[in-house]
Amino acid sequence: MDEAVAEPAEEAWRMDTYDPGADCWTPGLPMRDRAKVARRLERLAEEHPTWADGQPVQRWLVRVTTTYMVVSVAGEAPPQHVGNRVNAEDCPACCASEVPPPYPWICPGEPGSETDGEEQ
Ligand SMILES: [Zn+2]
Repeated sequence: MDEAVAEPAEEAWRMDTYDPGADCWTPGLPMRDRAKVARRLERLAEEHPTWADGQPVQRWLVRVTTTYMVVSVAGEAPPQHVGNRVNAEDCPACCASEVPPPYPWICPGEPGSETDGEEQ
């Protein structure tokens, strides 16, 4: 079972710039000193407010932090088939499968696997 661990979060700051040609935000180098990144962002906003075509340059000051988790070595257990001839789209294992079951898309799981322990 994955669980959060009480570790002090690491923190870094960076300036991201929107690249309109690529339609994405480009991350800057992370730095420990927030004030240094903020000053750089303000200076660039003054000196280079627009791209060559006149569009305003969008820049963000971004705070990056970490989260620590203890995770099992084997990773998450794979999803199990529901069985009982349910529709494949209602079965997590069928949905996760690269090859869906053939028409009429019924879960190939064992009948009754959803109602373990009940007499039929
Ligand atoms: Zn299934």
